[in-house]
Amino acid sequence: MQVEKDKVVSIHYTLTDDNGKVIDTSQGREPLAYLHGNNNLIIGLEKALEGKKVGDKFTVTIAPEEAYGERREELVSVVNKKDFQGVDEILPGMQFHASHNGQEYIVTVTKVEGDEVTIDANHQLAGENLTFEVEVVDIRESTEEERAHGHVHQDGHHH
Ligand code: ZN
Repeated sequence: MQVEKDKVVSIHYTLTDDNGKVIDTSQGREPLAYLHGNNNLIIGLEKALEGKKVGDKFTVTIAPEEAYGERREELVSVVNKKDFQGVDEILPGMQFHASHNGQEYIVTVTKVEGDEVTIDANHQLAGENLTFEVEVVDIRESTEEERAHGHVHQDGHHH
């Protein structure tokens, strides 16, 4: 069996940035299981996995356009502290859920100056080249329900 659309694929992976810093890894955890070809992973990683078999190991570097996109400066804005109701102290690095024109964003506080708070709605990995070291550990057929939902049911529950 090989990795192709609608197969449930389990991988171990380590993600590093251009400086070799580890951003995320499945080592020491259960492998990541996902439904291939359903946009569950970034497109560049799904492309690299296409056709692979259990036991295959590879390293791939993915440019922003096939990962989390380029940074967009229009997603950086300055708001007033009083817009954060119910939060005692606003500090750089804090993250909040925000909605704008019906879309949900996670915004990160990048600067606080007096009452002015700079927030950034870019994905934290936007603009980054991402290097994945991957090992394919399992491939199985998906169930009808998983295909209908477009994601894996690891424990029979819906996520
Ligand atoms: Zn489901």
